[in-house]
Amino acid sequence: MSQVRVRFAPSPTGFFHIGSARTALFNWLYARHTGGKFILRIEDTDKARNTDESLRVLLEGMSWMGMDWDEGPEVGGDYGPYFQSQRQAIYDEYLQKLKDAGRTYEKDGAIWFKLEGERYTEYDDFKKAEVEKVKAAPVVIDDTVRGRVERAEEMDFVIVRKDGNPVFHFVNVVDDITMGITHVIRGEDHLSNTSKHVELFNAFGVKAPVFAHIPLILKESGPGKMSKRDKGALIEEYAQRGFLATAVRNYIALLGWNPKDEREKMDIDEIIELFDFPGINKGNSRFDEKKLSALNTEYLREMPIETYTWLARPILHSAGVIEEDADEDYIQSVLKLCQGKARGLDDLADFCRYFFQDDYTLDEKVGAKIAKKADPKELIAEILPVLEGVADFDADHLQASLEAHAESKGAKVFAYFPALRYALSGQGGGPDLLPMLAVLGQEQVLGRLKRFVG
Ligand code: GLU
Repeated sequence: MSQVRVRFAPSPTGFFHIGSARTALFNWLYARHTGGKFILRIEDTDKARNTDESLRVLLEGMSWMGMDWDEGPEVGGDYGPYFQSQRQAIYDEYLQKLKDAGRTYEKDGAIWFKLEGERYTEYDDFKKAEVEKVKAAPVVIDDTVRGRVERAEEMDFVIVRKDGNPVFHFVNVVDDITMGITHVIRGEDHLSNTSKHVELFNAFGVKAPVFAHIPLILKESGPGKMSKRDKGALIEEYAQRGFLATAVRNYIALLGWNPKDEREKMDIDEIIELFDFPGINKGNSRFDEKKLSALNTEYLREMPIETYTWLARPILHSAGVIEEDADEDYIQSVLKLCQGKARGLDDLADFCRYFFQDDYTLDEKVGAKIAKKADPKELIAEILPVLEGVADFDADHLQASLEAHAESKGAKVFAYFPALRYALSGQGGGPDLLPMLAVLGQEQVLGRLKRFVG
């Protein structure tokens, strides 16, 4: 059995940022890949931001993306509590260990961690004062992603603040030790903290975990990492925008990792099987909403029609396209036509509204374009009796009747199609035309066409 224990250690902020979600996902994937444990630890030391609402957003986001945790809030585990705010006794115990080892001292009301090495003073331009520095041996981090990183800490640092609250570096390391964490997979922004962390691991006499610092996610265009204000940054908004969790998860897995081939759309078992450190990119990745949308569209198109209908129905209802009790068979037959054509669930309502409501508006630009070749009203008036005469109103019979008519006029059947689509939907594009007529049904079609010719 695998000994791997990884953790996602968010500080709840009130939103679930895509960068955090990616860190969570990489940890989750690594745990599932190795058969290890995925631990969720809440670093809730910032009391102002640590509200029930912040936690809810986070847990819901995790669940939405299908990232289940083996230990943590709601599920418990042998290494709890899983909230830093509840681990004070453990921090006290570990602080005592450092004190006993002579590695702490008090200054200005705070408790400092004492580095080992020769001490000297130096004038600090920024602080405008002499400061004490230490020639500590450099810490070597064999980062699984970044490679070998060497860095020497130069100054002692605070581990417990004046107000008695322990500092991030200290609690983070104590938790990783006491939770038996074997691999720390986190954002590259923490790389600069890692030498402090390794100093602490060494002081406790504990072997540091394996580190994997994953590169940043850059915003769609321009320099800088994705901030919470950038479109696409918040996981909780994807559901509201009608994105599929599977597509979002697949896309986020590709933000900084790839299976070393061209594969993009992969089911989760495939990603779990292939996910490992060598596939993590060293360079930053850039958020690309188009790529995410394209993946999402692909997932939507491959979905069984029953699932698609189940997802679409509430969306169409809240967009005011259908009534609560709208006929399921009719909805499904409409969606069968639209599933392969609509881009996403967010534009589905506008894409198929006219199937359900006959007060659609005619797009005049489309009308003007058609009119360049022939008057659409005349074309419709000409084929109305043909459509009236079709006994079995399905795509094949419609095709046959319209073709026969076109032939008798020495015309091509396609000559009638744009006008027909325009008259029936007000639009220039949409699902396949004759199946669309069949779904609308003869009565609707004739009614709309008669209204169109006036
Ligand atoms: N609470 C830290 C953060 O949200 C966790 C850092 C870590 O993973 O070690 O960035």
